[in-house]
Amino acid sequence: MKHSSNEALLARKAAATPRGVGVMGNFFADRAQNAELWDVEGRRYIDFAGGIAVLNTGHRHPKVLAAVQAQLERFTHTCYQIVPYESYIALAEKLNEITPGSHAKKTAFFSTGAEAVENAIKIARAATGRSGVIAFGGAFHGRSLYAVALTGKVAPYKNAFGPMPAEVYHVPFPSDAESLAEARKGVERLFKYDIEPSRVAAFIFEPVQGEGGFNIIHPEAVRWIRELCNQHGILMVADEVQTGFGRTGKLFAMGHYESQGITPDLMTSAKSMAAGLNLSAVTGRAEVMDAPAPGGLGGTYAGNPLAVAAAHAVIDVMRDEKLPERGQQLGDQLQTRLRSLQARVPQLADVRGQGAMVAAEFRHADGRPDADFTKAVQARALAQGLILLTCGMDGNVLRFLFPLTIEQPVFGEALVMLETALTAT
Ligand code: PMP
Repeated sequence: MKHSSNEALLARKAAATPRGVGVMGNFFADRAQNAELWDVEGRRYIDFAGGIAVLNTGHRHPKVLAAVQAQLERFTHTCYQIVPYESYIALAEKLNEITPGSHAKKTAFFSTGAEAVENAIKIARAATGRSGVIAFGGAFHGRSLYAVALTGKVAPYKNAFGPMPAEVYHVPFPSDAESLAEARKGVERLFKYDIEPSRVAAFIFEPVQGEGGFNIIHPEAVRWIRELCNQHGILMVADEVQTGFGRTGKLFAMGHYESQGITPDLMTSAKSMAAGLNLSAVTGRAEVMDAPAPGGLGGTYAGNPLAVAAAHAVIDVMRDEKLPERGQQLGDQLQTRLRSLQARVPQLADVRGQGAMVAAEFRHADGRPDADFTKAVQARALAQGLILLTCGMDGNVLRFLFPLTIEQPVFGEALVMLETALTAT
């Protein structure tokens, strides 16, 4: 097939699609394999974006391809609510088993992360008969109207889209002892100024904030949220859309707290669950999940059979290739490498991570966030062929979302590109 040039496609894109769909790359994908991607002009990239945390098993994992191909031969769509199929039930059974907590669980499937978040809140409202929801500043829970209300960042997500749905409240994100004290104060004030605890349905949080800057929640904060929820009959909702499926060194980030007996009441997953096919899920306490009446949950494409087939394969690959453990090793290597550069790159103010969810944060000498430096490193890395994403409330964080299946030589090559980009900027 003859391809258009990147330049010609950019012009057509500008004419045919709205600017609101902001696009990072000025090159267009042609094909991809595991951690590598080639554009329409044949240029090779190492993909440390993974379509925003979707490709923990890499591009086109052979087992995922085989599972989807086998399903393509049978049927591609019936709508589960019309003519159901076993693979949906089997995937729900698997998620009920592999998600943190040994209590009785049920799972419903949807298509996108935002949809999973929306439905988790619908379920929490139905189960509690309450309406309020608490979320964190800097959170990202999606772009649909209720999910964007939960998202704790105005520009660019909420600008011009208001008014937001009612009774969504934000408190500061607790990443250390100081911000935990702020979060506690924030909730005390909410209960004093805005809403009584007995009208709060859910407290939603990301165990590691994704878009917000790869901020790891303070372990004490997880216990605090659990106790607060227990005290007031609020449901604890962990949004694992970005942290799930091996990214943080465990299959799910909430697995880090399971040994302390802390588990969420509801959990969302999406992204890497189906390796690029559209699938999301809400998993939760069986009695909570059963609160909405028949017909209250679902969607035409929710639990699409091709995506469900992909998810079965992803779960097998996670286990067979020990991907959470491998992610931990790769994350450790990356953190070590970044730390070794801190003396030469004074802007590199912080290196942090949980498993393979690693971030590098850049600041000026006086402590102000340095978004320009961050962007410049991203651009230099891209010029060498390494795709990196930024994140953070101030755009001063680089995040690394490489496939956990990345070949060690390709990972090594990417680290050299990263080092060059950091030291030359
Ligand atoms: N929750 C979290 C934690 C996310 O990172 C995202 C996407 N970045 C979403 C929800 C929304 O997912 P989607 O874009 O699939 O709607």
